[in-house]
Amino acid sequence: MLNRIDLRGEPVAEVGGRRLARVLPRAELDVEAALAVVRPVCEDVRERGGQAVREHTARFDKVDLATTRVPPEALSGALARLDHAVGAALTEAARRARAVHEAQLPVQRSTPVADGSTVTERYVPVARAGVYVPGGLVAYPSSVVMNVIPAQVAGVSQIAVASPPRPEHGGLPHPAILAACALLGVSEVHAAGGAQAIAMLGYGTEDCAPADTVTGPGNVYVAAAKRLLLGSVSTDAEAGPTEIAIIADGGADPVFVAADLIAQAEHDPLAACLLITTDPGLADRVEIELTRQIATARHADRVKEALTGQSACVLVDDVGAALAVSDAWAPEHLEIQTADAAGVAARVRNAGAVFVGPYAPVSLGDYLAGSNHVLPTGGTARHSGGLSVLTFLRGIHVVSCDRAALARVAPHIDALGGAEDLAAHVAAVRVRVPAGPDPADAAVPADTAVPAAGEPVRPGPWPHGPGAPLPLRPDLIGREPYGAPQIEAVIRLNTNENPYPPSPDLVRQIADAAAAEAAALNRYPDRDAVALRRDLAAYLGHGLSYRQMWAANGSNEIIQQLFQAFGGPGRTAVGFEPSYSMHPLIAQTTGTGWFSAARAEDFGLDEARALAAIAQARPDLVFLTSPNNPTGTALAPAVIERICEAAPGMVIVDEAYAEFARDPEATALPLLPGFPRLVVVRTMSKAFALAGARVGYLAAGQPVVDALQIVRLPYHLSALTQAAARAALARSGELLQTVRAISQARDELVGWLRGRGLAVADSDANFVLFGTFADRRAVWQGLLDRGVLIREVGPPGWLRVSIGTPAEMDAFRRALKAVLA
Ligand code: PMP
Repeated sequence: MLNRIDLRGEPVAEVGGRRLARVLPRAELDVEAALAVVRPVCEDVRERGGQAVREHTARFDKVDLATTRVPPEALSGALARLDHAVGAALTEAARRARAVHEAQLPVQRSTPVADGSTVTERYVPVARAGVYVPGGLVAYPSSVVMNVIPAQVAGVSQIAVASPPRPEHGGLPHPAILAACALLGVSEVHAAGGAQAIAMLGYGTEDCAPADTVTGPGNVYVAAAKRLLLGSVSTDAEAGPTEIAIIADGGADPVFVAADLIAQAEHDPLAACLLITTDPGLADRVEIELTRQIATARHADRVKEALTGQSACVLVDDVGAALAVSDAWAPEHLEIQTADAAGVAARVRNAGAVFVGPYAPVSLGDYLAGSNHVLPTGGTARHSGGLSVLTFLRGIHVVSCDRAALARVAPHIDALGGAEDLAAHVAAVRVRVPAGPDPADAAVPADTAVPAAGEPVRPGPWPHGPGAPLPLRPDLIGREPYGAPQIEAVIRLNTNENPYPPSPDLVRQIADAAAAEAAALNRYPDRDAVALRRDLAAYLGHGLSYRQMWAANGSNEIIQQLFQAFGGPGRTAVGFEPSYSMHPLIAQTTGTGWFSAARAEDFGLDEARALAAIAQARPDLVFLTSPNNPTGTALAPAVIERICEAAPGMVIVDEAYAEFARDPEATALPLLPGFPRLVVVRTMSKAFALAGARVGYLAAGQPVVDALQIVRLPYHLSALTQAAARAALARSGELLQTVRAISQARDELVGWLRGRGLAVADSDANFVLFGTFADRRAVWQGLLDRGVLIREVGPPGWLRVSIGTPAEMDAFRRALKAVLA
């Protein structure tokens, strides 16, 4: 049945792929000829829109439509009537495909190319995808899965599916296709087929907005229409007739080999099937099997036509030659049925997908492997891969560069701009950083400068001054140390401290506890801070034991330890910004990639967008700050729960300000038993008025605490710190009273600011973000001139004020009134 091509004794590996491919059969897809047929149809749709689509549909599909849009009841009805076993199979196929395609999502990476100059690659999904699903006599709901899942995983927000209407289904597409769409949550389905459907998806009509990307298999006319669209939209590869190559040795099972050749041939009389074998005996055994199996094949005519047409059995000397033949042909599907199939598969260079060993047939890949079945045909596997999430994503380079970095690279731009005679290019750089000595370099080195009153003390970027630069890590060069300006001001409302100092009584308790420790300071402290962790567990409640608690020097150190244990080079973290700036900073100093996702307008989380960001970045750590700094926004525990369900790695909820939340239930602590990768971070710096003692802590599953012990420095928490913290925890009732006063003052301030017509973010913390000011620096400076120091942070135009004592708040209000008068 199969033609034999005997390449034994030929130096196939040396012949060259293109020459070798010429002796191998394959049906040509004459898209050029089809172009002439489909061009008028596509032009017509482009000019006349829906009317043209309906007329061509009446002509080709014998269906008269008022609109192409399939009504929602038809989708839900088809799903309700879907055969239970088919529904279960599609659900499992979708689950597997989703898992595989989620793993394809590229990670956003920032590359520091020089000091102060970074290029970040962002991957952004197209806004709208059009998916074509053929549905003539046979319908392929699996094609819906293979096209829609990658688009959904990529984060495409609008997906429209088109499939031909069928008179026998009341002028709607095949019910199995409608059901598959409904199952995947696709609500926009159009009854249109062929070239007019592709033109509708690409150019748009009154009923169907134009897509940015059009994908999906189809016949030669569909391929031709997609080619015509290029330029307006992107498309997936042109699908030609399907093909399989099987590399088999004498040990292959002829029953399996014949079955797979027939399965491929069943698609199309133009399907191409190649058996490449080192064993003429196997070739004979497969021939016998083909005859036997075709006798009972359902589509025997098609199968015979394909196997006696553009198909062959190629005899070669060894597996190396078999691979050379297969690579030259570049099959859509390649099965390896040899000894050491995995080793052979690893040597394949050109194939759409490779199926390894006797139990991974192509039919598995068509439906349920989880791999994509939309694959390159016609030899295009030499240069292209199959459909993937990347089909629906675009990489955008985001370039950032500071002045000094631009000045350093400017001579190179002078040279290249000069060589290309593009003087305006050179000028566009030189208006920013004129040639000659840079006046910025003449500034007094920061470490010798005496700050004027009210001027923040900040060392300049490293390296400063002339001497030899230190061998600092390149990604740290140019970074500035974190910190709010430490300015002497009468009223300091800039670092979210608790304005109430410890009572004289507590001062004495702390001093006594410290004195007791001082007597033993020749010894290292308790490395594991067990007593303190017990006190912290008792304070938090929720059934926590000390084994689930960990403490360190401020929650900043806790966060650093979390990055050290769960982040690091090659890993990524996601945060929702604006938020606490130490999260990305510690990410960077620990070599962890940082993926910044945006909070919603009201500074809360848009759940769908947050989940999409997580699906896209697949982060090792997700940071949620609640209540958030600098906005004050608390997150609903239900949102945190959903994120815990979706996040593939650790979820860190930074609850530094939890005690100030208006809703005492707004904490992630109750979620801990359900999520072993959840960590709740707290601090004694705020509610406990103990910022100076530097005590932060976390609650999590015991394995998390055990993991952190690997990265913590031995004896990191001093005996004095542990003693002070325990003394304060023993008086938590007294200390937390200030929380009530502060929260009340905050709510009053929010009301007062809003009363003055200012925008104020809802706050569940001990600070308030307000604005917006065209020149927030001037407002900040005006307040400082009046002795009130607040913080210039948050999105442009906003300022943050920490809640102080009543007298301090009065002073703030008076100063602000004066500044805004
Ligand atoms: N998390 C958040 C959200 C913060 O705002 C702060 C300090 N401002 C910290 C953690 C760190 O606090 P500490 O190290 O004092 O515990």
